[in-house]
Amino acid sequence: MADAPDLRDPRDLYPRPPFEKQPQEATGLDAKMKPEPDHGEDSYRGSNRLKGRRALITGGDSGIGRAVAIAYAREGAEVAINYLPQEEDDANDLAGLFENEGRKLVKLPGDLTDEETARGIVRQAAEALGGLDIMVLNAGKQVTQPDITEISSEQFDQTMKTNVYAMFWMSQEAMKVMPVGASIITVASTQGFDPSPHLLDYATTKFAIRGFTVAFAQVAVDHGIRVNGVAPGPFWTVLQPAGGQTQEKVAHFGEETPMGRPGQPAEIAGAFVYLASNDASFTVGEILAVTGGKPVS
Ligand code: NAD
Ligand code: MG
Repeated sequence: MADAPDLRDPRDLYPRPPFEKQPQEATGLDAKMKPEPDHGEDSYRGSNRLKGRRALITGGDSGIGRAVAIAYAREGAEVAINYLPQEEDDANDLAGLFENEGRKLVKLPGDLTDEETARGIVRQAAEALGGLDIMVLNAGKQVTQPDITEISSEQFDQTMKTNVYAMFWMSQEAMKVMPVGASIITVASTQGFDPSPHLLDYATTKFAIRGFTVAFAQVAVDHGIRVNGVAPGPFWTVLQPAGGQTQEKVAHFGEETPMGRPGQPAEIAGAFVYLASNDASFTVGEILAVTGGKPVS
């Protein structure tokens, strides 16, 4: 007789709001979140979909990037992550998890707002991994401000550099080293479709990421390289309590989705596996929205 089907109610899989208020300094540490996010540590099962592939993931220490790193490794890929030096604790924690599974995580700390650093990370990843055929541009900066008059030129500049310039610099560099069949994945947001007034500069970058992804995809395909994006809805990551939202919004995070809760990083990793893998060979210039049912238009 066949096994009973593994059916689960998606509404009840994970914690629902209200959550505790929990301010952290940017960029914050995952390990301090309450409840702790699920990155698939205990649940993700691979099936060799990325066997032998070599992946660089920016912002891979925590949140969505960390879930992608775990999934990619269990699908058989060699993985390098970039993150800010102050996030070494999260990066070390992930490296320990890799070690327990008999794998090595290549750690490449560095601030992507610096052009030479951003370009250098791509070259270092290719060198350390013996090539590069997946790049996930996931690092992001988000600072909530009640009004345009509160956004400093410095904040605007840093948000643009992290979310947009680094994507451009690293994509340009990747094209020099990536082989035919490689895949680049950007991270947009529902903010790149339906912008919130308190995320003015951030939402602006997410529209830019969408535009870049769709335009770049059409030329990269001439080199046999596929470019796509993922647009997350609300996900339970440290980006939010570490200045990305007000603490009042954190307490009710995800409530507005039809699912009534935020997603957990583990619930989006599969989208990145799909887009990186050969299963997505005809998928180019797509922005895959994973939002808990919140429509994007
Ligand atoms: P996160 O804080 O865990 O990850 C963001 C990462 O960006 C950090 O870990 C950090 O390593 C990296 N980063 C920031 N500034 C950097 C810099 N100057 N140099 C190098 N690295 C830098 O939060 P997350 O939610 O997992 O964010 C990942 C991506 O998902 C971001 O692009 C974010 O905009 C996007 N996103 C998140 C949500 C959400 O609700 N969490 C929704 C839509 C989109
Ligand atoms: Mg982090």
